[in-house]
Amino acid sequence: MDNDSKSIHEFDVNLICEYFLGVERQGPGSPEVTVKALSFIDNLTGNSKIADIGCGTGGQTMILARHTPGNVTGIDFFPAFIDRFNENAASLNLQDRVHGKVGSMDNLQFGNGELDLIWSEGAIYNIGFERGLNEWKRFLKKGGYIAVSEVSWFTDERPEEIDVFWKDAYAEIDTIPAKTAQVQKAGYIPVATFVLPDNCWSEHFYPPQVPVQEAFLKKHAGNKTAEELIANQRHEEKLYAKYKDYYGYVFYIGRKI
Ligand code: SAM
Repeated sequence: MDNDSKSIHEFDVNLICEYFLGVERQGPGSPEVTVKALSFIDNLTGNSKIADIGCGTGGQTMILARHTPGNVTGIDFFPAFIDRFNENAASLNLQDRVHGKVGSMDNLQFGNGELDLIWSEGAIYNIGFERGLNEWKRFLKKGGYIAVSEVSWFTDERPEEIDVFWKDAYAEIDTIPAKTAQVQKAGYIPVATFVLPDNCWSEHFYPPQVPVQEAFLKKHAGNKTAEELIANQRHEEKLYAKYKDYYGYVFYIGRKI
């Protein structure tokens, strides 16, 4: 492994934001996977309240909203993502029931028992999987659902290079049985767990970044931080291709007891 490789969190946030504004979604996933995860959730009506935490520009939120009734609030840290989110909602005529708000996942402004569903694709790691499960639970009604996707190990053992890379990037990475046990321990019934198919990365995540990387490098020619950011993304993509038998994203769906 390149010992100088950085975690995405070490880069200038404005650069990261600008880079990811160029793509429809900011993490691995697909419309099919969002719909599949939703198929395990059976409590939604036109009065339901749903929150999508760490929604980014809302790629998955708009799919969610088009396949379910109720009101959806997207929360993200980056104002530019939320502006784009609200433009996307308006262009799909969803602005009456889909609203993006700037906020932090460690300081959510929902009331106790207010929500029917908490959604979060590829974002709970920012607060930590267990902490997010525990802290967000109070916002759910009894019988409400949580559906989160999270990077997970597929095997008990793995090559050192990828082990070191992920433990450095996200110390809470763990196996699927360990994560499922955390869902249960946090007070949810683990209703479903499924692995996201490879095309969530190889089709929906990495290829849309290729033209964005080229344009970004042109625009920021000579800017070392920008070059490092792209090098980092490319390195991560290479590691995924090499080690995808050992890790990937997994959807964890739980119902609050
Ligand atoms: N859910 C989107 C998707 O699947 O395309 C975005 C996933 S992206 C990997 C993680 C998102 O979490 C980013 O949009 C980032 O701005 C957001 N984020 C990071 N820290 C956050 C925080 N403390 N509160 C809210 N959002 C945060």
